[in-house]
Amino acid sequence: MDACAKQREYTAKDYKSDVKPIWCPGCGDYSVLAAITRALASMQLAPENVAVVSGIGCSSRIPAYTSVYGFHGVHGRALPVATGLKIARPDLTVLVTGGDGDGFSIGGNHFLHACRRNVDLTYIVMDNQVYGMTKGQASPTTEPEWEGSKLTPDGVGIESFHPLVVGLAAGANFIARCSSSDPNNVADIITQAIRHPGFSLVQVLSPCVTFRPEQLEWKHMVRTAVVDVTEDAARAARRLMTDDGFNVGKVLYKGDRPAYQPEPKGAAAVAELEADFAL
Ligand code: SF4
Ligand code: MG
Repeated sequence: MDACAKQREYTAKDYKSDVKPIWCPGCGDYSVLAAITRALASMQLAPENVAVVSGIGCSSRIPAYTSVYGFHGVHGRALPVATGLKIARPDLTVLVTGGDGDGFSIGGNHFLHACRRNVDLTYIVMDNQVYGMTKGQASPTTEPEWEGSKLTPDGVGIESFHPLVVGLAAGANFIARCSSSDPNNVADIITQAIRHPGFSLVQVLSPCVTFRPEQLEWKHMVRTAVVDVTEDAARAARRLMTDDGFNVGKVLYKGDRPAYQPEPKGAAAVAELEADFAL
């Protein structure tokens, strides 16, 4: 091939913006950002063909830190925005980034229906079992005995939400759990998630060093999973129901449901709809 005609190769740096992250030093989200850019580079996706959508929270800042198209929306609403974007622009690779509070509390209902609809999105949840941005309250994934917040001085007292079990039950087509302590593994899993059709759920255990300093222990969690990926939903369910939530480093389930992708409406059809609903 003519050297001039050779397409330029993208590196991870090409997907980073000039905005400097303001996360606390040591926050696990730095590694996840690096993993996302490595995954995009490994797939050689043109930045203009990728979009990252988020809600609110520390990890939801990721669209600002990447050079691809981004949308930093309102709390808990990343998934419906991303769904609309993917339906309208099926040519785009759409990632959704956020945390456990944003995704499983105020965004919980959207999470269920995004799994059910199975639109081709990759949802990367940085789970630190706490609301970091609002200074350390218990989140849906916080353990019942955690006493680290003044709002729950005697512990949370209720069982934590299990996103992968709920995601599987609701119809997610790809489920993985990994640790920010192993960014190359996270990048590999994100690449697999993007390639797999339908709704892919990637839970990344990503420590909040400020409000959950004990999570620094998570840096030892590197590919501890001994299981192999299964396409059997019942087997995946048994595995997820019986593990301790820290089986990391592997894709746990790959389904074969076809992604939901209706034909985008043309401009004329949209104008007609708008006219019908005009007040
Ligand atoms: Fe990260 Fe926690 Fe700091 Fe937020 S508060 S940037 S989650 S360490
Ligand atoms: Mg959180």
